[in-house]
Amino acid sequence: MTMRRPIIGGNWKMNTDLTSGRSLAAEIASAAATPACDIVLYPPFPYLQQIGEVIAEGGVVLGAQNMWHEESGAFTGEVSGAMLRDLGVRSVLVGHSERRHVVGESHELIAAKAAAVIAAELQLVLCVGETLDQREDDRTLDIVLGQVDSGLSSVGCEAMGSVVIAYEPVWAIGTGRTASPGDAQAVHAAIRSHLQERYDAGVAAATRIQYGGSVNDENAGDLLACPDIDGALVGGASLNADSFSAIIAAAVTKKNQSIGTQSR
Ligand code: PEP
Repeated sequence: MTMRRPIIGGNWKMNTDLTSGRSLAAEIASAAATPACDIVLYPPFPYLQQIGEVIAEGGVVLGAQNMWHEESGAFTGEVSGAMLRDLGVRSVLVGHSERRHVVGESHELIAAKAAAVIAAELQLVLCVGETLDQREDDRTLDIVLGQVDSGLSSVGCEAMGSVVIAYEPVWAIGTGRTASPGDAQAVHAAIRSHLQERYDAGVAAATRIQYGGSVNDENAGDLLACPDIDGALVGGASLNADSFSAIIAAAVTKKNQSIGTQSR
């Protein structure tokens, strides 16, 4: 059995100001950093450099909420992979539901961004998830697996070590509604078996799949206990250092329990 290292991401979206963002990052870095779990913070673009300085000495990784797919040129307002690398960014969110459904990013654009993140040697976190209508029409797996296929259309087997998938049902993001652990596990297992068909058994076993959608310190334990849920992408609760640290602690507990199970 492959042991997957848990990964907890904090997507701050368009929140915090510089002062509160720096304090939040410092609190998380001192309270929560642990070698047992990857922790990634995705602050707003203007604060990347300063937040990066705050977390530079600890084990917390700097991430970006978005990236443009061209290397340079006349793309007003956009930011390239090389620019993000210059600031110490190591992980990039692509296909977040707010970019798909609020900004209107197409499958083609998301695929191009995913390919560019890999080309820039950054970690790709590909976000996928169904809307409430799609779930009620029983189309969850069609939508989610379709987004995995289109998002990874230019990503080969050899690059999959740099890919994390975040399953985030759109109806659960920022709403206080969470998928039940059983429903979330079922989608995660389907994504994993789809990766086996699309790539191979090794990729399927090694790829980390995060759950996102109103994860908080109360529901994280049950979600993270599911066998195919390898971490969480957290919005609202990542803005509170205590809640975010408790989610990280739940991930570490899961990891320790799996080590215990394996060594028996
Ligand atoms: C997110 O932004 O990816 C997210 C899951 O947000 P929230 O935790 O607030 O639902």
